[in-house]
Amino acid sequence: MSISVGCNNTCTFCIVPSLRGKEKDRRPGDVLSEVRAIVDQGAIEVTLLGQNVNSYGVDFGDRQAFSKLLRATGEIEGLERVRFTSPHPAAFTDDVIAAMAETPNVMPQLHMPLQSGSDRVLREMRRSYRSKKFLGILDRVREVIPHAAITTDLIVGFPGETDEDFEETMRVVEASRFASAFTFQYSIREGTPAATMPNQVPKAVVQERFERLLELQQRISLEENEKLVGTTQQVLVSVDEGKKDGATHRLTGRAEDNRLVHFALPEGGATPRPGDVVTVEITRGAPSYLLADSDAPLRIRRTRAGDAWDAAQAASCGTGDAPSEGGRAVNLGLPTLRVGAPSSPSKWQ
Ligand code: SF4
Repeated sequence: MSISVGCNNTCTFCIVPSLRGKEKDRRPGDVLSEVRAIVDQGAIEVTLLGQNVNSYGVDFGDRQAFSKLLRATGEIEGLERVRFTSPHPAAFTDDVIAAMAETPNVMPQLHMPLQSGSDRVLREMRRSYRSKKFLGILDRVREVIPHAAITTDLIVGFPGETDEDFEETMRVVEASRFASAFTFQYSIREGTPAATMPNQVPKAVVQERFERLLELQQRISLEENEKLVGTTQQVLVSVDEGKKDGATHRLTGRAEDNRLVHFALPEGGATPRPGDVVTVEITRGAPSYLLADSDAPLRIRRTRAGDAWDAAQAASCGTGDAPSEGGRAVNLGLPTLRVGAPSSPSKWQ
């Protein structure tokens, strides 16, 4: 659910400010009414969206509006999972961290775009934080939410990026212990200040750095995921996220920290619906997913989102009423596939 559009920052690689203009925030009352409305219709998970989501409130002069909004979503009965994307490190304040930690339905997950570990490159990008501040945010989040899964966006080969700059990115990524990262090779976007910068990095150099960074992050993701083997996870069953589910007799969903979990579907047992929640034990960690393989019957919690899924299915067969809101499609707390959407939740944030 969008809570704001536009952005007041001027990152030199990004086209958003010229396309979307200055940040405009929806009023908190409107946001909360809409969340309540979709929860009433079956949603149990909501993601609050903004180009610069944690600066929410700048438009109406309340610097703590985002943390207040998070806390207010915690009061909405039936709303089990709240996420948000994407925040900006420069404006990520401690009141938001406290609201995340103290609001039970705000999930232990944070997407925090780093872009580069080099302070010199960050300056060229016009990103106003520095690597020390960025690492400090991660420390403070982990202090109060130790099990938070933190993900990021990285750009390799920004104009003028030297070997030393790139090594700084490797250093900060190593220190950050991201659960995963959306890693991009810099490419020119016409109309952005970076498009006409001198010293564009040769493609072969970008490729080599990109592969090294990917390898590093893959190792860290694997190590972080392997730490979860033996833990119990609550998995919200999703639709079409496990491409091999049919062949492997598994279903797929998201853990509370948003990790992708493929879990076994024992023969003859009950099958959860998309939107239901299963309790599983993790048996293996891979770089981009967790596996939960067991022959034991699944522990399934049927939810209102699962009921809404059933109702939507029945309606599409002409046998029931589809959940709708004034004729518009309603997000039922399930992942949504948007054709043509970027692969990153925040490209570029
Ligand atoms: S990258 Fe994000 S913060 Fe920077 S200008 Fe674009 S939308 Fe704004």
